[in-house]
Amino acid sequence: MALVNEHFLKLPGSYLFSDIAKKINTFKVTHPKQDLIRLGIGDVTQPLAPACIEAMHKAVDEMAKKETFRGYGPEQGYDFLIEAIIKNDYTPRGIQLSNSEVFVSDGAKSDTGNIGDILRHDNSIGVTDPIYPVYIDSNVMVGRAGVLQEDGKWSNVVYIPCTSENDFIPEIPDKRIDILYLCYPNNPTGTTLTKEQLKNWVDYALENDTLILFDAAYEAYIQDPEIPHSIYEIKGAKKCAIEFRSFSKTAGFTGVRCGYTVVPKELTGATLTGERISLNSLWNRRQTTKFNGTSYITQRAAEAIYSPAGKEQIKQTVNYYMSNAKIMKEGLEAAGLKVFGGKNAPYLWVKNPKGIGSWRFFEQMLYEANVVGTPGVGFGPSGEGYIRLTAFGEQNDCIEAMKRIKKWLK
Ligand SMILES: *Cc1c(COP(=O)(O)O)cnc(C)c1O
Repeated sequence: MALVNEHFLKLPGSYLFSDIAKKINTFKVTHPKQDLIRLGIGDVTQPLAPACIEAMHKAVDEMAKKETFRGYGPEQGYDFLIEAIIKNDYTPRGIQLSNSEVFVSDGAKSDTGNIGDILRHDNSIGVTDPIYPVYIDSNVMVGRAGVLQEDGKWSNVVYIPCTSENDFIPEIPDKRIDILYLCYPNNPTGTTLTKEQLKNWVDYALENDTLILFDAAYEAYIQDPEIPHSIYEIKGAKKCAIEFRSFSKTAGFTGVRCGYTVVPKELTGATLTGERISLNSLWNRRQTTKFNGTSYITQRAAEAIYSPAGKEQIKQTVNYYMSNAKIMKEGLEAAGLKVFGGKNAPYLWVKNPKGIGSWRFFEQMLYEANVVGTPGVGFGPSGEGYIRLTAFGEQNDCIEAMKRIKKWLK
């Protein structure tokens, strides 16, 4: 008899986006003639940069010839890509990394979900709330999150609220946490931390021997030169933080699949007897055992992002999404709504008027304005009373959606 991992049974059955899909389907059946504008999706819509396409075609041709064919590559990624990453994403910010500190992967969801493999099951975890659901659910699956309580929180998770009351700046908790997830620029709130605010967390981690798992998937959307792109811009962070990056939102790779994770050599965790163990060597062991590398064609596409043409092309796409964000922010504010984010991230976090709950506001906007968002409470208890809109849509749709919302709220 094969016994199942019963921790999976603790996960709430229905998933946020399937609940939303059901509500949209109901609307469509009862309103077959109305067209909907979807601003709920967390997926990009613009095609890959021509530089990436060109690199992929070339790589495919190499695979077609015996002399240039490639089989298994290094599990950690090819040096050509790792070197491009270090040279472009880190060296210009004064961060020195060696090739063996960068692990190329098939994306940040896998890595943020899998990193728990190298950490004991009984660590305490902390998250800012609301948050990207993968961080908590992947801990639930190994029993690390504890049990789900009536207030919608897991018993072994410290929730650090980020709301308009504290300007979305997470307050340093008064107890220590073993593992802390930070995501900046943030999904879902679209907010950022300044260098000073991020430094407070690095200092907390160094004082409390906390491991920070820093998700920088939206780094490319930062417009303000004062906002840090990497946690390693903060002194001491190499001793306490792992950083996750993704080409998904940076370069439209959601369907191509490529990202990378930085695990510095000086970063350690402890054994029960207090011995310090390199997390870099544990992650290397984990990856070489359970992961067989990102495809060569994909890594060539990722490398092309760093070519002069590639850089320019992906910047244009980011600018397109960020001009959507601007149109939306202005439109929503003109409709009398309070809007957060959207300045250094492709997400707008909208406070529902008159204290209306997330799901109620979602349904009203669906039925009365025919615009789809994502209920904030789906990202955690502190998301109640907000709705998330994304800037990944078509510009004309964004403009039209703002007209509809303005008319609806008048
Ligand atoms: C989209 C997203 C990612 C990227 O995931 P991939 O697996 O690389 O596509 C990572 N973290 C957050 C918070 C995201 O929203």
